[in-house]
Amino acid sequence: MSTITKTTGNPALPRIVIVGGGAGGLELATRLGQNLGKKQRAEITLIDCSHTHIWKPLLHEVAAGTLDSHDDELSYLAHARAHHFRFVLGRLSGLDRQNQRVEIAAMVNERGEEIVPARSQAYDILVIAIGSICNDFGIAGVAEHCQFLDTTEQAELFQQHLLEAYLRAHAQGGVRNQGELDIAIVGGGATGIELSAQLHQATLLLSAYGLDNVKPSDIKLHLIEASPTLLPELPARMSEATVAQLKAIGVNLYLGERVVEVNEAGVKTQSGLFIPAATRVWAAGIKAPDCLRGIGGLESNRINQLLVRRSLQTTLDEDIYAIGDCAACPWPEKGPQASVPPRAQSAHQMASLAYENILRRLNRQEQKDYVYTDYGSLVSLGKYSTVGNLMGNLMGSVMIEGAIARLVYLSLYKMHQMALFGPFRVALLVISNFFRSRLRPKIKLH
Ligand SMILES: Cc1cc2nc3c(=O)[nH]c(=O)nc-3n(C[C@H](O)[C@H](O)[C@H](O)COP(=O)(O)OP(=O)(O)OC[C@H]3O[C@@H](n4cnc5c(N)ncnc54)[C@H](O)[C@@H]3O)c2cc1C
Repeated sequence: MSTITKTTGNPALPRIVIVGGGAGGLELATRLGQNLGKKQRAEITLIDCSHTHIWKPLLHEVAAGTLDSHDDELSYLAHARAHHFRFVLGRLSGLDRQNQRVEIAAMVNERGEEIVPARSQAYDILVIAIGSICNDFGIAGVAEHCQFLDTTEQAELFQQHLLEAYLRAHAQGGVRNQGELDIAIVGGGATGIELSAQLHQATLLLSAYGLDNVKPSDIKLHLIEASPTLLPELPARMSEATVAQLKAIGVNLYLGERVVEVNEAGVKTQSGLFIPAATRVWAAGIKAPDCLRGIGGLESNRINQLLVRRSLQTTLDEDIYAIGDCAACPWPEKGPQASVPPRAQSAHQMASLAYENILRRLNRQEQKDYVYTDYGSLVSLGKYSTVGNLMGNLMGSVMIEGAIARLVYLSLYKMHQMALFGPFRVALLVISNFFRSRLRPKIKLH
């Protein structure tokens, strides 16, 4: 094990740098800041390309307008100050492992003006936690003609387009051209399903708020999935319950249809089907950001994830950890080739182990192995239902539905908030959200 002594700012302090302040990285930076940063035992730095954090599983609600991102976002600068770490705005662009420096690209604003120049940041321990983005698998027309929900900006842009299309159609007295407001969502995983349900709810609300020249039935929602079932990795009963619920609210399902091309008019599938849609959303599959492919000579897989050992250290460099969606972490309990799935619960658990292993490393103790605990999966169908399965050592997989499932689903976000703010502030947030939800419209109308 190499020792960690050299520093520049305060020569006594090891420099721990975390790149990516999402579901995993922000929890880790907060815990390290609260412990090592506060006691001045290490210098903790978080680098992120955004000014604010929002928990990614909320993005489909932002896209549908049923959640205003400003209500749930957190300022990195303010959070860093309160939790004894430094925040650096910037986008990871390279890695100089020999000199232990992270390269950060220049940041420009929307007018193309440089806010901060390209820089590098020294580290003794580095954690890469930059998540994932949608994978278009190189399918023709997807990059040009689909919208994505990888970032808050993309989700807000989607909400703006939806609202503008609704306002336009309302002003002209209703839908003039068939399919003018139709939405095709490619990918029948949790994201696509949850987005379909939220969009259905949004169309009802927009009509109720006076845009009533457009009837909810004027908007067709199409959900297209290459597998013959929705949520194929989950128990069949859960998939069947989801299909039944989506059909009940009028979502058109196309199962076993592989998309081969997308254009400005709609989506083509391998079987020759063409699904016309003015708006197209891509939510099929993920990859880690392209900047990670072979970064600093580290090993990466075909979807750019960094290969890590079970300690979450990268295979070729024990000073560098990777956690969350951007890490290919072995899951031997599932099979010799299996990797831990890219989920918020995996990122949360990896942040906890990375925290422990970093402390152990500073204390020259052996690293612990990451063991993924699958607590099950839950899919929210907005106000209509929540379905899912809970996993336990003794009970195996138990399917839950309705109010109980909704409570468990909401508790996932509460766990993230607890890790960031602690119980007292989470209680205050719950109370303030309760009153805010009674004072605000149920959908974002601007
Ligand atoms: C719409 C949607 C719904 C989802 N619903 C669920 C769900 O219900 N349950 C579930 O378990 N999972 C869900 N997921 C998946 C879940 O959000 C991810 O698995 C989880 O957020 C991964 O956490 P992470 O810390 O690895 O990355 P993220 O939370 O994605 O955070 C990555 C961070 O890195 C930053 N970043 C990215 N690139 C760079 C760069 N080059 N330089 C600097 N910073 C960078 C980003 O700004 C971001 O802050 C959903 C995902 C989406 C998109």
